[in-house]
Parts: sequence; C-alpha cells; structure tokens
Amino acid sequence: MSISFSLGGRTMAAHRVFCIGRNYAEHVRELAHAMPAEPTVFMKPVSSLVPAGETVHVPPYGKQLQHEAEAVVWIGREGRNITAAQAGPYIAGIALGLDLTLRDVQNELKSQGLPWELSKAFEQSAPIGSFLPYDGSIDLEDFAFVCSVNGAVRQRGNTKDMLFPIKTLVSFLSRRWTLKPGDLIFTGTPSGVGPLVPGDRAVVESDLTGAFSWEIA
Ligand code: MG
Repeated sequence: MSISFSLGGRTMAAHRVFCIGRNYAEHVRELAHAMPAEPTVFMKPVSSLVPAGETVHVPPYGKQLQHEAEAVVWIGREGRNITAAQAGPYIAGIALGLDLTLRDVQNELKSQGLPWELSKAFEQSAPIGSFLPYDGSIDLEDFAFVCSVNGAVRQRGNTKDMLFPIKTLVSFLSRRWTLKPGDLIFTGTPSGVGPLVPGDRAVVESDLTGAFSWEIA
C-alpha cells in the first residue's frame, strides 16, 4: 500500500516515516526517562500510515494501545547536511498524526534492550490527517494541537515546548540520511498519552489543520 499526499495541486507519495521520541519535557517525565542530549529517532514503515476516517484495529498482541498525538512534517525536496536556519524551504507541509504505541510491549522490549518495532511499527500504527501547505508563514515553533478521545481532551500540545524544534530535527536527520521528497517526520508527543480501546474515537485537531478522527476497533 502506498499513501500519497496532495498540496496545492502537487501529489507526492510518502517515502519514509521518521519518528522522534522524547521531544517534550513533560512527556519525558511522565514516562520517567532521562532528558535526551540529542533527538531519539525510530522509524515506521510507510504501510503503517492510516488516513483519517479509517478504522484502526488494535493489534492482537499487546494490552496497552496508547495514543501519542504529534505534529508531522512533510519533506518536499531532497537535501542533506541542512542547517536548522536553512530547513524552512525543505518543509512542504504540516499535519497532525498519532504515533500509536503498544506501551506494555515497548516497556518489555526496553527492559530487554531490544528494538522497538513490535511496539511502534505495527500495522496501522501511524494515523495521519491532511497536510496544510507550509510556505514559511506558519510559526513552526508555536503550533498548538489537541488530542481527544470520545470527546474528552487527553493531550494539549504546542511545538514551542519541544526539546528539539522542528527545523533542528530536519537538520539532525539530514546529517544522517539524505532527506527525500515524501519523507515524513512525526515530531514527538506532549504529555497526556493514554489508552485506546475498541469502541473509542480518537481525534487530533488544531486551528490551522482542522480535525481528523479514527475509530478504534
Ligand atoms: Mg511518539
């Protein structure tokens, strides 16, 4: 399965899905981790992306599916060794998504020093809303968003609280991978992560992007 995004008449297939962990201090504290000295990076397969409106099925293994609402940026052009100051033109759009996590599985993997894929990269682990074109006029360091479940607010985030701002993340990743058009970056979640169970309806929204929802089954 491939997922494409449209912006201003331009359609682009998703290429890779980078994810940043531990990027908001309050969330780092709620999971009782040490503050990171540099971004924590992991990846999900492109096939894990789920457009808004589709039903997300809880994996048959694991007991604690949790929502992590995140701002997501879309890389629009190829680049490497980009400085944070240069990063703006490489960003084509911003969206909201959910970095779905099987927390119990992740905790077990962490305790054994094993990779996180079983807890982070499972089928349908990356619900994503529509992208808002980025032309430099949106303040990427003051982008507020909300996650609610069944109408109750669970997470209120603002990118101003990031430990590593979006343009710093683009720079960091570009020094390790050649960024390509269609690369997505899930930029980390604020505090308030919590459970999702069958029957729930998860919504992410912001003034700029509008609201996007997924049913959990
Ligand atoms: Mg996350």
